[in-house]
Amino acid sequence: MLKTKKYKFWFATGSQDLYGDECLKEVAKHSQIIVEALNASKKLPFKVELKPTLIDSASIRKCFNDANADPNCAGVITWMHTFSPAKMWILGLQEYRKPLLHLHTQFNREIPYDTIDMDFMNTNQSAHGDREFGHIVSRMGIERKIIVGHWSDANVQERIASWMRTAIGVMESSHIRVLRIGDNMRDVAVTEGDKVEAEIKFGWEIDAYNVTDIAEYVDAVKKSEIKDLTDLYYEQYGVVLEGRSPAEFRKHVEVQAGIEIGFRRFLEEHNYHAIVTNFQMLGGLKQLPGLAIQRLMAEGYGFGAEGDWKTAAMVRLMKIMTTGIKNAKGTSFFEDYTYHLPAGNESILQSHMLEICPTVAAEKPVMKVQFLSMGQREDPARLVFTSKPGRGVACSLVDLGHRFRLIVNDVECLPQDTPMPKLPVATALWKPMPNLITGAEAWILAGGAHHTAFSYDLTAEQMGDWAAAMGIECVYIDEATTIRNFRNELRWNDAAF
Ligand code: MN
Repeated sequence: MLKTKKYKFWFATGSQDLYGDECLKEVAKHSQIIVEALNASKKLPFKVELKPTLIDSASIRKCFNDANADPNCAGVITWMHTFSPAKMWILGLQEYRKPLLHLHTQFNREIPYDTIDMDFMNTNQSAHGDREFGHIVSRMGIERKIIVGHWSDANVQERIASWMRTAIGVMESSHIRVLRIGDNMRDVAVTEGDKVEAEIKFGWEIDAYNVTDIAEYVDAVKKSEIKDLTDLYYEQYGVVLEGRSPAEFRKHVEVQAGIEIGFRRFLEEHNYHAIVTNFQMLGGLKQLPGLAIQRLMAEGYGFGAEGDWKTAAMVRLMKIMTTGIKNAKGTSFFEDYTYHLPAGNESILQSHMLEICPTVAAEKPVMKVQFLSMGQREDPARLVFTSKPGRGVACSLVDLGHRFRLIVNDVECLPQDTPMPKLPVATALWKPMPNLITGAEAWILAGGAHHTAFSYDLTAEQMGDWAAAMGIECVYIDEATTIRNFRNELRWNDAAF
């Protein structure tokens, strides 16, 4: 279900007609070599397409408007090979509405000491051409990414690749539609928010349905469909009966199979990409959706519990941004649950009452059926596993009343070597950067939620760039965070926003 368009990125080289045809031919040739090298690098998740060199206001304006109009164009990469007087760029930039990358590079890697002359200087002057271009983009207050370095460097190519994923997040954000089953959990503050503002800022469409509407879809699922999907569960996952009879256990699992099929059908027919549930509003559903939601998340749907539509949309967004990453480690909804506080080795056990995405699992998940007081329904079936060790980002989008703030915390997932035989839920154990003592204090100061959208496969830089493109505040909690500076940053941001 996670399908994105065959996106491309345009490569637009800036110059002017002052230098004569010979020079412009060389400019075009160099741009072609760079674009071919970028595409051949195998580092970029999307293709770069070379556009004719831009030399005046009319060609610049046309290029940007064509980029706007092309549904497959996800952004423009600009580079000033020579000087390109920036007043020429004003109209085009004013009308441009997609992600912009300013690649500040130079065709030649080194100064050719023996042969350098004024012709060479005039042809290869990105160092000042790109400053002229950068000035007008800054003056116009346009959000863009700047990547500096030689185009053949692996590091530069990797940064372009990383930015491309952010750009896809920007492009696809406005296609995210969140299905709310019921409303937010009663009395909870942080899962609430301004849905109109979220659509203005992020393009998210967030709609509520009665549980009865969805439950009809679940009730209409055929017995044979439930049998087939349940058989598949038994092939894919381990079974831990914990004293239940195999037949009774399977009956519980079958309920989740019905929920999965019914929910997917509803999501597909109504074109939603993320879903929230609320254990207080289960209507005719026999169990709180557990295994069903876990599998939908693994397929690419966003999810937030207790009506948390902001986190559901963020999980979906992050799944889109990680689409197609080779050996991706996974993206999931999580909740800060329980602390582990041995001095100097503090960490947080991440979990939820059921709904953690199996893409983050370190081992083959097992099915369990256990009592759950929340929801007051049958004992729900769920997948249980621990999560992979390694670095990731935990993100929380909060509504401060007059604006959104994205909080991004670098975290280190620790190996989970000690079994927790009585805990029937999936978990991760992570250490927030710079450590739990400072990380948790900063998180709470920033108003971060107990729910997060987490990914091993994205960086704080990517999430912050996405937030910048959306025009919202982003604060980072990482190895460099100190409380004194962080408090000031929040104060400054209050003034700035
Ligand atoms: Mn929760």
